[in-house]
Amino acid sequence: MTEIKKRFHSINDEIRLAEQQSGRAPDSVKLLAVSKTWPAEKLKLVAEEGQLRFGENYLQEALEKINALRDLKLEWHFIGPIQSNKTRDIAAHFDWAQSVDRIKIARRLNEQRPVELPPLNVCIQVNIDEEDSKSGVTASDVMSLAESISQLDKLRLRGLMVIPAKQDDEAAQRDSFRRARDLYQSLQQRFDDIDTLSMGMTGDLHAAIAEGSTMVRIGTALFGQRDTRQP
Ligand SMILES: *Cc1c(COP(=O)(O)O)cnc(C)c1O
Repeated sequence: MTEIKKRFHSINDEIRLAEQQSGRAPDSVKLLAVSKTWPAEKLKLVAEEGQLRFGENYLQEALEKINALRDLKLEWHFIGPIQSNKTRDIAAHFDWAQSVDRIKIARRLNEQRPVELPPLNVCIQVNIDEEDSKSGVTASDVMSLAESISQLDKLRLRGLMVIPAKQDDEAAQRDSFRRARDLYQSLQQRFDDIDTLSMGMTGDLHAAIAEGSTMVRIGTALFGQRDTRQP
């Protein structure tokens, strides 16, 4: 078995163990394979093991992979910053947009979603630690953006996507994730269809699962170290 396939299975084992240790139901945490910078052949290896959900940050390389792998019926999540000039392709080629943080972008995705496709699944990206360097709405703006998105019929609001400040200490990681979960729970009380709390990456998946993540986005632990000279 290739290295990538082995890593895929050990990450799944790790997620199952973290679910168990946190008293979470088995399979309550989904894996999003974050494949930015990696060529289509690598994604195919993971898809052969049963992984169908992939996350991409850079539109042009993502479109090439979506086209190259179209026979595999994969589920594509856009997780990078969304500028206005990207919405048309995201609306046409992705199943999810996890990084929506402005009503203007949501409206464009809604207008540009092709009629023959089901509604685009959307998460609101939250800048939970209010870092200047990160996109995302602040916690206090989540409800009003959610309210506006819920009016758009070609979008289906599914939950939140969170990238906390980088911290090595697990207690500090959990503090950010806990605040995200509180927000997620208030969203669930107010809207239908809210079932996705996308948080946890290679460096903090245990803390995220302990605090209620339903989807971890894993790149490095699965595909290896990215070449940072890439876009
Ligand atoms: C790159 C990226 C990931 C994956 O990060 P790793 O540390 O490689 O697991 C997850 N989420 C987002 C939004 C990313 O841009």
